[in-house]
Amino acid sequence: MYLKSIELSGFKSFAKKSELKFTSKVSAIVGPNGSGKSNIAEAFRFVLGEQSIKSLRGKKGEDLIFNGAGDLPRANRASVKVIFDNSSKFLPLDYEIVTIERVVHRDSVNEYLINGSQVRLRDVVELLASAHIGSSGHHIISQGEADRILNSSIKERKAMIEDALGLKMYQYKKQESERKLEKTRENIKQVESLRREIMPHIKFLKKQVEKVEKTVEMKDELLKEALEYLRREDEYINRGESKVKSLKSPLLEKEKELEKELNTTKSILENAKNKDEKSDKLISLEESLHKIRDEKDNLFRDFGRLDGEISSLVKLVKKQEEVAQSYEHKTVTLVSVESLSIAIETRIKEAKSKGNLEAMLEALEEISHRLSDFIDHNKDKVDMSLLSDAQKDIENLKKSKKQIEKSLEEIKERENKLTDEYSKLKNIIEKEKDKNRDAEKAVFRIMAESGEIRSKIHDLSLESENLRLLKEDFKRELIELGHLVGTHVLQFQSPQGSPLGNLKEDESRAKQEERRRKIEKIKIRLEDSGGIGEADVMKEYTEASERDTFLGKELLDLEKSATSLTELIANLDMRLSTEFKTGVEKINTQFKEYFSLMFGGGEAKLSVTVPIKRKKKDTDLDLGDEDMEEGLALSEVEGEEGIDIEVNLPKKKVKGLMMLSGGERALTSIALLFAISQVNPPPFIILDETDAALDEANSKKYADMVENLSGKSQLIVITHNRETMSRAGILYGVTMGLGGGSKLLSVAFEEALAVAK
Ligand code: ATP
Repeated sequence: MYLKSIELSGFKSFAKKSELKFTSKVSAIVGPNGSGKSNIAEAFRFVLGEQSIKSLRGKKGEDLIFNGAGDLPRANRASVKVIFDNSSKFLPLDYEIVTIERVVHRDSVNEYLINGSQVRLRDVVELLASAHIGSSGHHIISQGEADRILNSSIKERKAMIEDALGLKMYQYKKQESERKLEKTRENIKQVESLRREIMPHIKFLKKQVEKVEKTVEMKDELLKEALEYLRREDEYINRGESKVKSLKSPLLEKEKELEKELNTTKSILENAKNKDEKSDKLISLEESLHKIRDEKDNLFRDFGRLDGEISSLVKLVKKQEEVAQSYEHKTVTLVSVESLSIAIETRIKEAKSKGNLEAMLEALEEISHRLSDFIDHNKDKVDMSLLSDAQKDIENLKKSKKQIEKSLEEIKERENKLTDEYSKLKNIIEKEKDKNRDAEKAVFRIMAESGEIRSKIHDLSLESENLRLLKEDFKRELIELGHLVGTHVLQFQSPQGSPLGNLKEDESRAKQEERRRKIEKIKIRLEDSGGIGEADVMKEYTEASERDTFLGKELLDLEKSATSLTELIANLDMRLSTEFKTGVEKINTQFKEYFSLMFGGGEAKLSVTVPIKRKKKDTDLDLGDEDMEEGLALSEVEGEEGIDIEVNLPKKKVKGLMMLSGGERALTSIALLFAISQVNPPPFIILDETDAALDEANSKKYADMVENLSGKSQLIVITHNRETMSRAGILYGVTMGLGGGSKLLSVAFEEALAVAK
């Protein structure tokens, strides 16, 4: 048993909350006319999602709300809650108990709740469809609608049967798939048009990107060249600076030294000015020496003369002595001696006047000869007095000689002293002369060296200035390159970061210059390419192409899903068609049986038919629920299948439905309804006075079928029929209370009979 109970609150005549529990397979609701029985059947339709107010006997939603009666005020809302035992999981929800509730407010707003949670109508409809409780309401036969199925159009009939066969789910799925397919196709169109729209932009961006890529390439090239260039330049400048520094400092040192040396040398030359004093002294020494030498010469001369005189006197003495021995007394005339003496004196004077030793010696020689001649001439005459005089003279002369010798000694000593002094002074003067000459030379050398050093220092200063200019250029270039290629350019400083390897020192500057020119060329090319916002273009292009790729993918997905939806629809169509056909066949078997049971023979069958062109607008959809309109709007479409009913009453020539009596229509209808319910039993069936038109014999048959049917579906029968009532396990009496509004009471069979009247 699936149906546990139903609660009505403010619904139609049920002002107060009223609950009917369905604990039996067959429950009967009895009561007098107008007590509100049919309202209960309608409460079922209502809660199960009925959208046709007309079929709920109203004009608008408000008509479903208790409108006040007697003492009871009108309600603001009508609610109906149906409670299912879902332990068999006939409803695909993981709950033992499932409650479905619908509320309608006076402003016609509807609320749907499953297990207390607000849901859409669609959710309720789909949930019920899965348990063959379709919206067509084939399992709820309202009062006076026993022959509804017969009155319906072939299209409605088909829907009813599909519903009963549990094909509604497939239809929903199909409709859903068709909607999805349509939407997918729309989406495909949209995506295609979007792609078409963005294509020119992408093309434009692509061109921009190509430009940017070229710029990036140029920048890469520039960076590569710049790194090499900057590293080398930096290296060159640093190397140059340290070279200048290392060369300059010894030069400056040397310059200082030279200056010092020059000062020393200059002071030497300054001192040289005092040399005249020494020269004067040397001259005076020279003069003294000269005098002494003259003196010495004179003494020598005197000495020589004395020596000569002595020796001639000695010889004379000797001769006289010899003569004396032989010519001891040889006498010479005085005149002869005097003349000799005069001759000698004259000779001496002559020699003396010549003033030199040689003349002196010559004179002495001559004198010696004369004396010898004189002696030889007077040999035989020796004068003794003369001899002694001579000896005395010798003695005197010797004394004089000694004196002269002494003087000579002294004079020699003095000469030596002077000579010594002279040579010393001369030596000093010579030395000083040498020194000055050296100093003069040194001055020239120093000047030359200083000049050289100064020129070297000047060269180095030029080089230093050159390096300073290079450094300034370097800084400017670095900033410029930084602007163009960013901070990567600073990598030139990191030795690890350099992809260039070790720099070779011996590279010529020409190569570096070549590099610089290359960099300049790239810069110009870069400037020519114009400063497109790289990042922006790339970003925009990436975004646009990603969007295009995304759209492309989406298009593929959409096409795939369109294909699979088409396949699904085809499958569903096939399934619907086959299951419908087999379902109809099964129903026919049952229909035939029930029909012949009801009519004691005859034949009846359903046939699938293609209707003639007919259009009918369903004006019943006045609750305005969009979900419902979307999913269930039923309007006949040209050439769609429908269900026709053929009947053949026993012993009558009646073949068309139109020709049946009211009872016959009711019986045929019931037979069909029961047949359908046999094939695919719904959890419950509600029959509102379906038995009204039956006579006693048929009432019995009807009651038997109800009993029979209750084996598969729970039955709720609203009836005045005793026979029907007798098959019910539970009986509810409905009365209209004095204060207004329907009242419910559980009654026994006997009471029921009374209540029913
Ligand atoms: P019968 O046996 O004649 O078919 P019934 O028991 O089926 O009668 P219903 O048709 O269910 O009776 O009830 C109709 C009663 O409900 C009427 O008296 C009507 O006034 C009352 N009713 C219908 N709608 C409302 C409403 N909105 N507010 C109050 N009462 C209402």
